[in-house]
Amino acid sequence: MKERIWSLVSELVWRMRRGPCLAVLTLHRVGPNQPIRPDAVARMFAYLRRHFRMMLPSQWTEALSEPSAMITIDDGHEDAHEIIYPLARREGVPLVICVPTDYFLRDRWLWFDRLNWAIAQCAGKAQVRVGGETFSPDHRPSVVAFKMHVKSLPPADRDGIVAELLGIVGREPPTVMPKEYRPVPREAMRGMLATGTVELCAHSVTHPVMTRLDDAALREELTRGRAELEAFSGRPVVAFCYPHGQSGTFDDRTQAAVAQAGYRVAFTSVPGVNRPGSTDPLRLKRVHVHPRLSMLTRELAGLGGWRRRRAGAE
Ligand SMILES: [Zn+2]
Repeated sequence: MKERIWSLVSELVWRMRRGPCLAVLTLHRVGPNQPIRPDAVARMFAYLRRHFRMMLPSQWTEALSEPSAMITIDDGHEDAHEIIYPLARREGVPLVICVPTDYFLRDRWLWFDRLNWAIAQCAGKAQVRVGGETFSPDHRPSVVAFKMHVKSLPPADRDGIVAELLGIVGREPPTVMPKEYRPVPREAMRGMLATGTVELCAHSVTHPVMTRLDDAALREELTRGRAELEAFSGRPVVAFCYPHGQSGTFDDRTQAAVAQAGYRVAFTSVPGVNRPGSTDPLRLKRVHVHPRLSMLTRELAGLGGWRRRRAGAE
């Protein structure tokens, strides 16, 4: 009942506030065993197609004249091709796939997937102590807090903790990634790009926290990540997606480097909808896809900030 009321309120507010905007949706993993299931994605795509003009980064213009939306998929795991793409084709919506090139082009494990793999090997242990931190592998909030801590560290310290944890596990992740960790196969990506309904977005080379890099490493991640995708696809890559993306993972220095590298738009993970006049194209906000469509429509109607503040106060 509460859900139904929120859907109606969101719909009403949406109609009242309807105007030029850019909503950028964020998807990561989708699957029957993931928090975001295929049927939730199908409902979201149908909703977006009804209410927004769907865009790709190459069509970006600051002179937005109507409610517009992009759908971004971060990292490019195989489900982007196997699950999300068929749903997008069915609903006629375009997709932006953000891929780190070490992962996509060289089949190297994403650092956080190595961490996820190591944590999965610890299942059944009551507690694990690593890098001065303790977490409970079977307790999701504890694992989430541990992963947030590891993510906040400079790359060398972060990799040190992952190595220490792998030492505790007693083995390295397999060289050939298990299916659940694999990127979209390159031939499959070529096929999707050829339809013109999918664009690649640069997402660095190694998926670091950009603010943790020195100037030279920052430049390398921005320019090589882009050049390698352009060489792969034969098309210009105009968008950059900040790895991790929350506030603190980008700043004025990283933004200047993004501009200097020639990107026209950059996506963060700061929640919100972008409106003309108050939108910086190199710091675009995004809306995380939620398992419940009513939560998503609330964000799109601009009621998400109120919900988050209320949740924070509770
Ligand atoms: Zn990512």
